[in-house]
Amino acid sequence: MNGLCESSEPAEQECVVMKFGGTSVQDASSIRGVCQLVKKALPRRPVVVVSALARVTDQLLNVGLASAEGRLDLVAEILHLLRQRHEAVARDLVAGDEYGCLYEELAAEFKALEAAANGIATEKALRPVSQDRLLGAGESLSSRLVEASLRSVGVDAALVDARTCVITDAAHTRATPLWDDTNGRLQAVLVPLLESGRVPVMGGFVGATRDGIPTTLGRGGSDFSASIVGAGLHAERIEIWTDVDGVMTADPTLCPDARRVPRMSFDEAAELAYFGAKVLHPATLVPAMRCNVPVWVLNSRNPDCAGTEIVAHCENDGRINSGWNNDGQVKAVTAKRGVAIVDIEPVRWFAPELLREVFDVFERHQHSLELLSASRGSLALLVSSVTALPAIAEELKGMANVRWENHKALVCLVGEQIRRHPEVAGQAFRAIGDIDVRMICQGASERNISFLVDESRAVEAVQRLHRSFFPVPAPEPLVETISSHAMCQAEGAWG
Ligand code: ADP
Ligand code: ASP
Ligand code: MG
Repeated sequence: MNGLCESSEPAEQECVVMKFGGTSVQDASSIRGVCQLVKKALPRRPVVVVSALARVTDQLLNVGLASAEGRLDLVAEILHLLRQRHEAVARDLVAGDEYGCLYEELAAEFKALEAAANGIATEKALRPVSQDRLLGAGESLSSRLVEASLRSVGVDAALVDARTCVITDAAHTRATPLWDDTNGRLQAVLVPLLESGRVPVMGGFVGATRDGIPTTLGRGGSDFSASIVGAGLHAERIEIWTDVDGVMTADPTLCPDARRVPRMSFDEAAELAYFGAKVLHPATLVPAMRCNVPVWVLNSRNPDCAGTEIVAHCENDGRINSGWNNDGQVKAVTAKRGVAIVDIEPVRWFAPELLREVFDVFERHQHSLELLSASRGSLALLVSSVTALPAIAEELKGMANVRWENHKALVCLVGEQIRRHPEVAGQAFRAIGDIDVRMICQGASERNISFLVDESRAVEAVQRLHRSFFPVPAPEPLVETISSHAMCQAEGAWG
């Protein structure tokens, strides 16, 4: 993490990073909406970061998988549909010569995509490096559409290839930025554009190694890109424009009564993202937090809504209720699915060396641990992938017996200082006590209590916890942060 904030001088004038997710750029009318939001923000000097059009990354992944399996008819069909969709959006957004240029640019992108798919078909395998080359095309295409559309409404937009600014390690499909290189490039490329009054537009999700090999930051990584850019430029704020009113008390697709959380801390939001809330990529808050740049989650379909403000400190001033929900201690409920529990039982007795060996073995297999619980007799670990477990079990043979069960989910309550309120756990138990809870984790973090349940019961557990902590009808809001309203009215930029 060295160099994340230290190496770069603040930009001379402030700017705001506006990131638009897939649904915010899904078609021509959404892109026109994005252009209006960017136009309104011109006095604040926006830098625009865009995701691929909705569902495009999944379709590109299908192109990769089908190419590796030699299903070339399917590859051609998906690429044809993708091309038709992007060309139709382009035609709807720009006309005349501008369309001609954009058409040529899209054609070049699709030619490169076909070449990448052919390469995968020849290799008969989808290697991570090829996957990154393929998937990054979604953001190259969308950023071209958004740039052209901005220009057509009179905004002096400048397309920036994110691969020239976001420099990463070579951990393909989940790369991490090299902060000094990235901050240096962001300053060198973006600051002159901002100073000359232009609006940089770049694709999220993608980066490149120092040698220029394309990488990606992990699925949903455009949020992370926005935060990398915001931190690198010392932006005034980072705005994540999505399809919901902000960070909600639960995923609204699971809990339709979920309410907007007006304000939360970086730590709370990071915890929520880490434990499965898709609204933010898990790494999003890291750069913002280090450089103390506030993050706002806003709804591009409802831009008048105040959204969620994520800041360094927010104890209870962001609570959305009082007199129930333990005075607003719980901010949100979430679930991380696809978790496995691993039991490690020493063959003889539990010695500290075993713990060391277990960590070493997991590290050698690059297998990250979600949570750990140790007792005198055994060790229980939670992991989010079981692929390396047979090899790990083999290596620990003779020292410990390793057994695992997958298809579990970690259901979490998140809120500052939750740990200091034991009544929260009591209330949670009353809500889901009859669901078989395999493990409870409280205390590892100040802000989280989690319950391990069967994946098949996860949705029900989230819904029951949400009903218990955020009952309907909601009591009168006590504190709808004054600061978030005041800022919203003062800036009026997305109203
Ligand atoms: P984008 O394409 O803009 O990046 P995502 O689909 O990645 O959007 O994230 C937004 C989605 O996250 C919402 O539509 C919602 O279903 C889901 N989500 C999960 N948990 C939450 C939460 N606590 N608050 C808001 N949205 C959530
Ligand atoms: N397009 C990428 C994905 O779908 C990145 C993003 O949307 O954030 O994963
Ligand atoms: Mg997303």
